Amino acid sequence: MAIERLTGEHSMLFVRSEQLFDLARRHSLWYLSFGIACCAIEGLMSTSGPRFDFDRMGVFPRSSPRQVDVMIVAGTVNKKMAETVKRLYDQMPEPKWVIAMGSCASTGGPFREYPNVVLGVDKIVPVDVYVPGCPPRPESVQYAFIQLQKKIAKRTEERLAARNG
Ligand code: SF4
Repeated sequence: MAIERLTGEHSMLFVRSEQLFDLARRHSLWYLSFGIACCAIEGLMSTSGPRFDFDRMGVFPRSSPRQVDVMIVAGTVNKKMAETVKRLYDQMPEPKWVIAMGSCASTGGPFREYPNVVLGVDKIVPVDVYVPGCPPRPESVQYAFIQLQKKIAKRTEERLAARNG
């Protein structure tokens, strides 16, 4: 009913183009298809399968960092790998977001006493959402994407509020 009132004859709808772009961004979060350790099996392989059906949220894997919006860091980041993670992040176009998946990516996890392990990927790139667990369930990753969508929506509201004074 409401949609008929909006789109019926003599009706008009005004939205800012950036609201439309952010709406599109929220519902087409493409993530980089790369994994570092065991979390990748749960985080990227299971979640992209038909059982959890991320496609319905507009969440798809892509193989090139130049085509993605989100980097899911799935696994233990060691110092040797840190440079590669940073380079991939730098190659992603703006706006971009990072999900730290699992205790290893968030804090170093069970390997944090080893000197070659980075104690959280946020030491290398800015992280938007942390997903706890070892490994986190695919549902947790799905929840992380919902949180990311909320974060993007909030950012739009804040930007519009700042502009309107
Ligand atoms: S959090 Fe657990 S499952 Fe994930 S990479 Fe670390 S050890 Fe592997």
